[in-house]
Amino acid sequence: MKSSDYISLEKQYVAPNYNPLDVIITKGQGAWVWDVDGKKYLDFLAAYSALNQGYSHPKVLNAMIEQASTVSLTSRAFRNDKLPILAEKLCNLLGYEMMLPMNSGAEAVETALKAARKWGYTKKGVSPEKARIIAMENNFHGRTISIVSFSTEEDYRQGFGPFTGGFDVVPYGDFDALSKMVTDETVAVIMEPIQGESGIIVPPEGFLRKVRQLCDENRMLFIADEIQSGLGRTGKLLAVDWEEVKPDMVCLGKALGAGFYPVSAVVGSTEVLTVFKPGEHGSTFGGNPLAAAVAIAALDVIIDERLVEKALENGKYVMERLEVLKQHPMVKEVRGRGLWIGIELKPEAGGARKYCQTLMEKGVLAKDTHHHTIRLAPPLIISREDLDFGIDRLLEVLG
Ligand SMILES: *Cc1c(COP(=O)(O)O)cnc(C)c1O
Repeated sequence: MKSSDYISLEKQYVAPNYNPLDVIITKGQGAWVWDVDGKKYLDFLAAYSALNQGYSHPKVLNAMIEQASTVSLTSRAFRNDKLPILAEKLCNLLGYEMMLPMNSGAEAVETALKAARKWGYTKKGVSPEKARIIAMENNFHGRTISIVSFSTEEDYRQGFGPFTGGFDVVPYGDFDALSKMVTDETVAVIMEPIQGESGIIVPPEGFLRKVRQLCDENRMLFIADEIQSGLGRTGKLLAVDWEEVKPDMVCLGKALGAGFYPVSAVVGSTEVLTVFKPGEHGSTFGGNPLAAAVAIAALDVIIDERLVEKALENGKYVMERLEVLKQHPMVKEVRGRGLWIGIELKPEAGGARKYCQTLMEKGVLAKDTHHHTIRLAPPLIISREDLDFGIDRLLEVLG
């Protein structure tokens, strides 16, 4: 089949909820993918950080094959011998007491929100049905109806109401607005420590620490959504480590499955996560042995291959190479942390999509985000040489 055949078949049978670049990937290895015509591309998106370990990492692949041929699903009606191992590893790695396993990122966020509400009623003493949670403008936490209820992106909401109540939204990074929004009924603040989908937005220095302090003073839970920023992307294990703060709950997903399998989790304290009693929350697939085996291997790769340190070093290197863009007439700002970099173009540039299109023709896959920003997020296993290849093409395309 020709690539145009795949495109028309997809257009005919797949709901058009995405607008992908027209590259039909049929194989991936490390930081590279191949299309159906055999053309090779360097991946500068890494499936929104789900592929931090690169495509088809052999250690994760082996763990997956071995577990798939042993037992893949038990449901949590029974116990399995992989979930406890993953739970111990994840909690020790991140310094938390407990975890709750789910599948997608949105489910991890829903879990944290449910935990926060229940904690509010059972531990903080908020009156029934009154709990409120504060979120930030331009957030991205997933696509369920409750989550888009506190989105500020019209495209995510338009036509999907009525929405879930109990959320308040303040501008990202605006501490005054945040503290004014707090009431006795506020049980939690949820935020991305760096906003990914809205264009790699880093909050003002000290903001995370102030949020932590505000939560302590008002007995609220600090929920960090690290689904995209966590597990090495920013050059720290978690992006909150940049300000050395410890949230009450951290949502993880994406790279936890190393691109092989959807795995998500919430980590937190015993006090918070024991608000759930058996039967009150769950998922048929959450914590299945295949997911757990994949996640164990995914974490091992991050640690054994020093992907966090590599992201920090390579991120600094990329930033140095992108210094030249500061003089570029079409570039408004270059920002980011670790291997997570946004190049925001001026409105005159006419949007980032066409640059991503030209980059693709030159053999590099990147994705525009929020219309004007080119997001660079290569797999963290990428070599210096491959990074240079990608950056050279990018500088060519920007001219
Ligand atoms: C991707 C993402 C989600 C949602 O994850 P899904 O697996 O797509 O449901 C939530 N929060 C953040 C910050 C994300 O980047």
